[in-house]
Amino acid sequence: MRATVVGAGVVGLATATALAERGAKVTSIERAETLGASASWLAGGMLAPFCEGESASPKVVELGRGAIDWWDARAPGVVRAGTLVVAPPRDVGEIERFAARTQAYERVDEAGIAALEPDLAGRFARGLFFASEGHIDPRAALGALLDRLRERGADVRFGADGERLGPEAGIVADCRGFAARAHLSELRGVRGEMVRVRARDLTLTRTVRLLHPRMPVYIVPRTDHEYMIGATMIESAGTGAVTLRSALELLSAASALHPAFGEAEISEMSAGVRPAYPDNEPRIEERDGRIFVNGFYRHGFLLAPWFAESLATRVFGT
Ligand SMILES: Cc1cc2nc3c(=O)[nH]c(=O)nc-3n(C[C@H](O)[C@H](O)[C@H](O)COP(=O)(O)OP(=O)(O)OC[C@H]3O[C@@H](n4cnc5c(N)ncnc54)[C@H](O)[C@@H]3O)c2cc1C
Repeated sequence: MRATVVGAGVVGLATATALAERGAKVTSIERAETLGASASWLAGGMLAPFCEGESASPKVVELGRGAIDWWDARAPGVVRAGTLVVAPPRDVGEIERFAARTQAYERVDEAGIAALEPDLAGRFARGLFFASEGHIDPRAALGALLDRLRERGADVRFGADGERLGPEAGIVADCRGFAARAHLSELRGVRGEMVRVRARDLTLTRTVRLLHPRMPVYIVPRTDHEYMIGATMIESAGTGAVTLRSALELLSAASALHPAFGEAEISEMSAGVRPAYPDNEPRIEERDGRIFVNGFYRHGFLLAPWFAESLATRVFGT
């Protein structure tokens, strides 16, 4: 079976992988010259279905549960260290609100927080620990899928536009993210801004979420004391640079988690556009002679595995 996958963000690469693993002859077409043009490049890489349940539907929680194993089987560096959720003393009520909307956590006190993250000792009185969650470095993960595709003989083309394809393309899976808006009128953009910093004096080993009524943030550790601080959620498809207001909010929240962030070196500030449908859930739909896989909102890494496998099952019938 011949298949062409348009877009090499997380959804396109996961879809191409699922198809190639079932024996399809896959061509992957990416408009940019590198992987770095996608929203996926900017993601936190959190594989946190239960925490996401705070704002997402039970379906998102359910479909995201298998993501960590899917990634672990295909990409190096999946960190299975759980998620720690804390709140500043004056916002401690946020912990109860979060707990009421989520599942699969244990409550931790000051000593429990210190045992998990020694550098946070004495800073927070209460928190929640979601032991079964994890994270992955999105850039390494995308690179790993690309390598696997090439090893399986896929034809990967960068700098190629997948808008018009001939019958030789075979089955076409369109995974262009927000760029597919012209075909998918319900799709909207949700802008997300992030900052990467290197905090040499701070060691965090797992994703930490800091609850705050106005600006909840998460901090995902990368290697060598680098941290991704994310992310804004702005109802806009604007692709301009990170605004001063967003940078201030993200960086102040990081400093509230630990003052060592005040001395951190900023290595990157970037903004991307999450593709989202009105219900904020992804869809697979056939239209205009292709199968669109889109609308992953803030759950590209979490839900791409389930939807990629689901599309492959639909195409192969098993
Ligand atoms: C700051 C931020 C943090 C996030 N954190 C997380 C997280 O922790 N966990 C999580 O699960 N999700 C997270 N997300 C959400 C996740 O990044 C998105 O859901 C995901 O990137 C959507 O992937 P996609 O492949 O649909 O689109 P994209 O990643 O945008 O990829 C689409 C690709 O299609 C290409 N393309 C466009 N037009 C064409 C064309 N005509 N021909 C060929 N190629 C084309 C583009 O160049 C691009 O490479 C985050 C998002 C942001 C912005």
